[in-house]
Amino acid sequence: MKVRTAEFVTSAPDLASCPDWAKSEFAFIGRSNVGKSSLLNLLAGRKDLARVSATPGATQLINFFEINGDWALVDLPGYGYSKTPQSVRESFHRAASDYLSQRENLRCVFVLIDARLPPQRIDLEFCGWLADGGIPFVLAFTKTDKLKAGKVATNVAGFLAALAEVCGGEPRTFLCSTRTQAGKKEVLQFIGQALE
Ligand code: GDP
Repeated sequence: MKVRTAEFVTSAPDLASCPDWAKSEFAFIGRSNVGKSSLLNLLAGRKDLARVSATPGATQLINFFEINGDWALVDLPGYGYSKTPQSVRESFHRAASDYLSQRENLRCVFVLIDARLPPQRIDLEFCGWLADGGIPFVLAFTKTDKLKAGKVATNVAGFLAALAEVCGGEPRTFLCSTRTQAGKKEVLQFIGQALE
């Protein structure tokens, strides 16, 4: 899969405001600061398509990016620690959960996991929620350049073992780094195959 064009389409505050189209969508979600904007920019081949934020939790809308005029990358609000007020956080969580559970265009969710950390309960619970809802998802471990390959492998195995206790099956796993561009080819190839 080659990305020829990447265009911002819209920021939707709720499910009803999402684009009225039939294009396949691949959604990206994770804890604030996990590296979601950076990964979206890497995939799109654009430095500034999704904003790389200094403020954790600043992305609070569902952002749509149309790729090759044919399919879309969807940037969902981050979960976890956010400086936004609780009330705002809850309504954006609702937007994301409505999108994830009801959006017919959604082909697959990429759950982003910080490769440096031991399994985090919030990530495991979120994957469990997706599995319960029958929502297809894969895992993208981020910032793999920040630690040795052996340690990445240990953390990935640890996460998969913890996840196996929460839900059955082993999701497809990608090791990503925006520094080394690791994972870019594999993720785009996966999306290309999903679109066939
Ligand atoms: P978001 O809040 O999930 O969208 O995360 P951002 O993309 O804004 O990234 C958060 C911080 O992590 C920024 O300072 C990025 O430069 C840094 N970062 C993101 N991805 C990587 C990566 O693959 N490697 C390294 N070393 N830093 C990264």
